[in-house]
Amino acid sequence: MLESSDNLNELPELKVMVRNSQGKYLAQDPNGLFFTEDRKSAVVLRYQADRVQEQLETIRLTYGVALVADPVPLEEIYEKCDQCHDWFMPYMLFFDGTRFLCADCRTRKLFRKGTAPGPTRSLR
Ligand SMILES: [Zn+2]
Repeated sequence: MLESSDNLNELPELKVMVRNSQGKYLAQDPNGLFFTEDRKSAVVLRYQADRVQEQLETIRLTYGVALVADPVPLEEIYEKCDQCHDWFMPYMLFFDGTRFLCADCRTRKLFRKGTAPGPTRSLR
């Protein structure tokens, strides 16, 4: 039962949704777990941290229910910062009118703006 976080992947961790044989998604509300066709309410699990494969195997052996882990594309979970091109959770990004920026890039941009030389008079 040794768990090591030393070999952390550079990439964001693989996220999965769990689907049943009818293709419905595993979802959760205060009453518990259920299956739904609504992809947006599906539970998103971390494939490794949540031991998804192990849990699905347990469910299959215990209940005879075959469930599948369906990888969620990065773009569905994360948004890319248009400046540094790192991936962030959507709520961590700011839209400045033209681009999505992470907090760092946004701060840098504001700073640059404040210290940048004024508009050049190259208009004719
Ligand atoms: Zn950025």
